[in-house]
Amino acid sequence: MSLLSVIVPCYNEEEAIPFFYEAMQTVAGDFSQKYPEVDFEYIFIDDGSTDKTLDVIKNLRDKDKRVHFTSFSRNFGKEAALYAGFSKAAGDYIVCMDADLQDPPELLADMYSALVTEGFDSAATRRVTRKGEPKIRSFFARCFYKLMNRISDIEFVDGARDYRIMTRKMVDAILELGENNRFTKGIYSWVGFKTKWIEFENVERVAGETKWSFFGLLRYSFEAILGFSTAPLSCVISLGFIVTAFAFILIIFVVIRTLLFGDPTNGWPSMICIVVFFAGTQLMCTGIVGAYLGKTYLETKNRPIFIAREEE
Ligand code: UDP
Ligand code: MG
Repeated sequence: MSLLSVIVPCYNEEEAIPFFYEAMQTVAGDFSQKYPEVDFEYIFIDDGSTDKTLDVIKNLRDKDKRVHFTSFSRNFGKEAALYAGFSKAAGDYIVCMDADLQDPPELLADMYSALVTEGFDSAATRRVTRKGEPKIRSFFARCFYKLMNRISDIEFVDGARDYRIMTRKMVDAILELGENNRFTKGIYSWVGFKTKWIEFENVERVAGETKWSFFGLLRYSFEAILGFSTAPLSCVISLGFIVTAFAFILIIFVVIRTLLFGDPTNGWPSMICIVVFFAGTQLMCTGIVGAYLGKTYLETKNRPIFIAREEE
């Protein structure tokens, strides 16, 4: 027998969880006919929900002993929830799935088959359409993936979901990355292993609302850049060199002009432009360096990634 752990991060998902569980039961039924050697376990992570999410999960737990849960002491974010799930999962195969059914459970059999029959370590999913999503959000998402692929050594797949099945070995590798600034999609890619990509059409949320605002996503993309690329630091160095070279040429020009034509006391506008320009670039560069320093500072504190209030 082998065990398949299904990790479900939940933040205010009281409406969606019953649909999710129902859909999973159906899929698990079909799954067991095809692969009778597989047992399921469900690991719900209540990420500090403020609605009845925890009660809904506890009700499932009373009915079905394959359901386990960890409830956080506050909202730590989906990345922390996934980490908690990975550390709690006992399975030989581990899959993580959103509670809102945007990660179609019907794909699970194919994903599992990629591991057991085709020898992959992981089967990941990506959305090929972004139907139902605001246009502007899709546009920025595309730009983000293009940028990340340029400035980072690892591969970022456009439309990739966190929905992914992995072998025990890969999850153990992920658990070894104990950093606080967790951008899970980057971590998946960083640990490597052979991954099969399975594509699907975007599905809209079954109930409840998305937890992402536009600015939330923007912050998330900054986390990704800070976590997986030092390109902004190199840009700062290049910019420093370019500006210094420009200043050098300017100095020569001003000195020669003064020697040839004397020193008329004009040039205040150009002086102000230069002062403001340099003040701006310096602040910006210090800010970029500061952003990395801030992350380093937080990492050195070595705080736990999540704090559980209750678990079963
Ligand atoms: N989620 C979480 N903690 C958070 C935000 C979200 O555990 O702070 C969970 C949420 O309950 C859902 C999954 O992460 O199961 C994806 O969230 P959502 O559907 O809001 O994101 P989207 O699909 O819109 O990208
Ligand atoms: Mg969703």
